[in-house]
Amino acid sequence: MADIRAFLGKFKITRSLKVRLFVIMFLLGIAPSIFIRAGILENYESRAVEVRTSDVQTQLRIIANHLITYNYLQDTSSEVIGAELEQLSNLYNGRVLIINGNLKIIKDTYGISEGKTIISEEVIRCMKGTNTVNYDAVNGFIELTIPIVETVSAQTATQELPEGTELVRGVMLTSVSTDTIVATIDILNRKALIVEIIMVVVIFALALVLVQILIRPFERVTKAISEVKEGYTNEPISVPDYLETEHIVDAFNSLLERMKALDDSRKEFVANVSHELKTPITSVKVLADSLLAQQDAPAELYREFMKDIAEEIEREDKIINDLLALVKLEKTAAQLNISVININELTEIILKRLRPIARKKNIEVTLISKREVTAEVDEVKMSLILTNLVENAIKYNQEQGKVEVTLDADHQFFTVQVADTGIGIPEDAINHIYERFYRADKSHSKEIGGTGLGLAITRSALVLHRGSVKVDSKVGEGSVFTVKIPLTRVLV
Ligand code: ADP
Repeated sequence: MADIRAFLGKFKITRSLKVRLFVIMFLLGIAPSIFIRAGILENYESRAVEVRTSDVQTQLRIIANHLITYNYLQDTSSEVIGAELEQLSNLYNGRVLIINGNLKIIKDTYGISEGKTIISEEVIRCMKGTNTVNYDAVNGFIELTIPIVETVSAQTATQELPEGTELVRGVMLTSVSTDTIVATIDILNRKALIVEIIMVVVIFALALVLVQILIRPFERVTKAISEVKEGYTNEPISVPDYLETEHIVDAFNSLLERMKALDDSRKEFVANVSHELKTPITSVKVLADSLLAQQDAPAELYREFMKDIAEEIEREDKIINDLLALVKLEKTAAQLNISVININELTEIILKRLRPIARKKNIEVTLISKREVTAEVDEVKMSLILTNLVENAIKYNQEQGKVEVTLDADHQFFTVQVADTGIGIPEDAINHIYERFYRADKSHSKEIGGTGLGLAITRSALVLHRGSVKVDSKVGEGSVFTVKIPLTRVLV
């Protein structure tokens, strides 16, 4: 079965739904006519043979009675009987043999075998009183025997043979031709064949038209999808003819929607990147232009403006670095450089690196390790996650504030909680903080120096580790970021 399918699969045309439907319809269409023809003709033949047999038997029975009446078995000179036999053999195009009790043929309508003795199974069985009928379909004749019976009358009755006893005196053996039946079947067959050919042609045409109509909605789906592909339209397509086409179209429309969302996000990203990169450049240009506009500007002014220019360039550099980090994370999505890392040590190293920045605002950074945690993670990406969170906790904190990093684990996940006593995040901003370039507090962001990319980077790195992040925050009181990552690498 699989072999046949593989073989058929090689021919493209057999994989066409159109061709398959057509073949099925065509075969189902012509099958009944073939079966009906065969069935009717077969039935006709047996019925015709039956009728012919019973007709001949009736005739023979009448003649058999006459044979007894005219005492034909003793004296074959009766013209009446001769005429009757002649008529019968003419009527049915057959041969009649009359055999007496000694199995001797006393009359043969063909005149060939008279005087001979016949010993055949049928004749002997018939002598005992049984009719026999044989139909020879190949040679086209029916052979039948009927006994010639004499009924003992009141005058001839004796002690041994009481009145009414039936005595078989001889046998009539007849063969009649079935040529006319065969001829009728031939005619019927020819007519049926003509009807069948007409039906085949009609069904062929009908199946062809029907298949075209049935398949049309699928062609419409392909056409609609092509139009979207060519870019003529961006609208959702609709082919509601069948449930099946509706399902295909629904699936396509949701794919289209997703592609549109991706495209929109890409456009927005490009616009944001351009804008973010342009801002420092514009400032640099304004600063440089105003310096150039002033002739003999004092050296202090130069120094001051150059300091501002250097700051803007530094900011540009930071944005570019963050962008590169983000793009790299998204590009090498599948490539994680996994190794077994002691998370306590890694966190300690990161806090050590960030403490000098915290000290500027007199912020105290503490690590609470509830247990030793070792996990299968990508060290660089894990560092990015932790650095960004702790950096934010310091950046968005108050003077004399506190940052508390808590490490914990269960048998499946480890968690890093970064709690600060900072400005907090407004409720309506919470859902947006992971978006690229989003900043909750735009007025302060410049002095704080955020790019709006830190949490986007954190989330991308977390997704790669099959981890998650959640935030609890109250404006003016502080925020708590909790990161949850599987201890072992989850294979997808
Ligand atoms: P940024 O480079 O601006 O810090 P992030 O993506 O790291 O960008 O953060 C996005 C925004 O989320 C920030 O601009 C800030 O408004 C808010 N945010 C992040 N962390 C905190 C925090 N610990 N406390 C208060 N606000 C925060």
